[in-house]
Amino acid sequence: MTTEENLLGQVSTSWSPENLQTLDGMLAGNPIIVITAHRSPDGDAVGSALGLWHLLLASGANAEVVLPDRFASFLDWMPGTDSICFHEEDSRRAESKVAEADVLFCLDFNGPNRAGNLAAAITSSKARLVMIDHHREPDDFAELAISDPTCGSTCELVCDWALASGRWSSMSLDAAKCLYTGLVTDTGSFRFPSVSAHTHAVVAALLHSGLNHAEVHESTFDDQSLNRVQLHGFALSERLKIWDEAGIGVIALDLEDLNRFHYVSGDTEGLVNRILGIRGVEMAIFMRESDPGKVKMSLRSKGDLDVQALASQYFDGGGHTNAAGGVLLGMSMADAQAKVDEALNEWIRS
Ligand code: 5GP
Ligand code: MN
Repeated sequence: MTTEENLLGQVSTSWSPENLQTLDGMLAGNPIIVITAHRSPDGDAVGSALGLWHLLLASGANAEVVLPDRFASFLDWMPGTDSICFHEEDSRRAESKVAEADVLFCLDFNGPNRAGNLAAAITSSKARLVMIDHHREPDDFAELAISDPTCGSTCELVCDWALASGRWSSMSLDAAKCLYTGLVTDTGSFRFPSVSAHTHAVVAALLHSGLNHAEVHESTFDDQSLNRVQLHGFALSERLKIWDEAGIGVIALDLEDLNRFHYVSGDTEGLVNRILGIRGVEMAIFMRESDPGKVKMSLRSKGDLDVQALASQYFDGGGHTNAAGGVLLGMSMADAQAKVDEALNEWIRS
């Protein structure tokens, strides 16, 4: 029995025979396929979109990737990024591609509002919508919804589809690199509770397909600018506040801090996990002033501590139990910090 056959019994139950058949039906007859993902796309969003794209191209499909906006430069190395159409750079082209699609894959998000400026084009598209996602509390917007919040990454769900639909033989090295990137980034390098024996088995199957995992790690994590590394040092030494009794660590960086280190998109990625790595810290919060009056929040937690609930209650956000995000609008960084203090005090008391 091959590694792939061994894995078949363990693919996500959301890939039921019925759902597999529905998707096969949607893909029959050479439809125009567009693949999209959430705004500010992360490794899992770009990885799943490009991974699925490579898989579909290998079987002769007519597919394109359209994303709301650019991703951080540490993902630029991924094979296929040159072919992506970005809404923020060419909105008319992006919108017409989405409008003219027959099948539209929505990857790594579970509600149109997470697609930023592409949301309206998605909801008004004539395309048949396929959502593949692992966030909690999905909206009901897709004809076919593959939703598995127990799964660590959307890339794992795409690998499961390749396995369950008999397309694993189309797994090129390029596809494997992209999908592995989402598997590793969304699981904090395979450390979060969502990682299962199946996750590792999927990785084993990718390795059998020839994937060089060390190359992916090096390109993704070991190619940082000096400014970025020094910004992390500054944030940890000058901007970290620890709430000792509550086991909470908070870093807030305003525009002045970011400008000092010539911030570019993606430079603060991973910083929130450094806070969570501190002994005694159970919840980590990272606040970044992204524009005047707009503060982006990133939350992480250990164990059962539910930051998704905190993010949706106070920061107009969501995500997962141990990793969530949100935004505070119309406030200076000082106001946002006061709001976070208030929210945390209320949260601790409840
Ligand atoms: P990050 O902190 O890496 O930006 O996001 C962590 C998780 O929270 C991701 O799974 C992401 O999809 C989710 N998330 C981040 N920002 C938002 C937001 O503004 N709204 C919602 N609903 N989820 C978010
Ligand atoms: Mn994801």
